[in-house]
Amino acid sequence: MKKRLFPFVFICVLFCAVLCGCTRYELTEFFALDTFVTITAEKPNGDVLKKAEKLVKDYEDKLSVTKDGSEIKRLNESGTLTLSEEVAALMKLSLSACERTDGALDITVYPLVKAWGFTVGEKKVPSSEELSSLLPLVGYENVTVTGNAFTLENGTELDLGAVAKGYITDKLVKLFKENDVKNALISLGGNVYVAGKYGGRDWNVGIKSPFGDGKAFCGVKLSDKAVVTSGQYQRFFEENGKVYGHIIDPATGVPVDNEFSSVTVIGENGFWCDALSTALFVMGKDKALEFYGEHGDFDFILIMKDGSVAISEGIKDAFSLADENTPLTVIKRSDKN
Ligand code: AMP
Ligand code: MG
Repeated sequence: MKKRLFPFVFICVLFCAVLCGCTRYELTEFFALDTFVTITAEKPNGDVLKKAEKLVKDYEDKLSVTKDGSEIKRLNESGTLTLSEEVAALMKLSLSACERTDGALDITVYPLVKAWGFTVGEKKVPSSEELSSLLPLVGYENVTVTGNAFTLENGTELDLGAVAKGYITDKLVKLFKENDVKNALISLGGNVYVAGKYGGRDWNVGIKSPFGDGKAFCGVKLSDKAVVTSGQYQRFFEENGKVYGHIIDPATGVPVDNEFSSVTVIGENGFWCDALSTALFVMGKDKALEFYGEHGDFDFILIMKDGSVAISEGIKDAFSLADENTPLTVIKRSDKN
């Protein structure tokens, strides 16, 4: 019944090229943030890769919802806490992302995440009574902020799982800039950032097929961009023949089940790409395209359950399909606003 696939954007081809062909690149791999982290950098000076690993693990210690002593876990346990300057700033940014996405992203979804058994406990379908009793706890307006002091009203609890990896990616990019690493690939599960070039060309980031065949579905050539994918295939379980994934609609309390198989958001900022990939996944196709029409400061790859794909016009020339017969729609922002 329990199944689990590790979330990561499919970049094997890329890594083979890196590992076999070119010794100027150094690679570090480790497990953190409940996923495999892979960082490849060209000519990293000194111990920058060790610093990168420490950075990721230090943020995990602060932001994890399950690790004892993390600021988020302590806030959930006590209901009120003055957070460190940095975590408080991230919390405020996260609350602004909840507002911007009209609650499709909602960092107070944790009571529901727990009830479905994601992150802790056994994965199971909660009873409708349990869901009805938990829904009033969920809602980012239940978080009150005074300076860096946060209070959780109505017994709500926080989970930064939808944004933390993107935020940490941005910190890794900063670390590399400060240490003069120009060309690098960072992959924290479904969160990828490609800095600079690979062999003088844009990096070719493969997007994993969400249909469980282990292949790349498509690729996109990019430089200095975050590429963040959300999909129910990343963490899920099956009960009575139905699949339940880890992204939950805060309005209904139930795992999202719409036309999307996966949503990839591409942009300059890892935090926002991470927030938006989760939020667009919750919104579904019509609302997600409306949101793009209104905001438009990002690109996307939407892989539908029916095997078709829709991409934003900004990545049209950089995009390629593994199977050229895949139905493809290019969405122009001007058609949506
Ligand atoms: P991501 O993989 O970035 O799409 O984030 C999914 C994770 O965020 C889940 O594993 C949950 O911990 C949490 N989550 C689930 N649904 C939501 C939601 N609607 N808003 C915010 N966080 C969510
Ligand atoms: Mg996310």
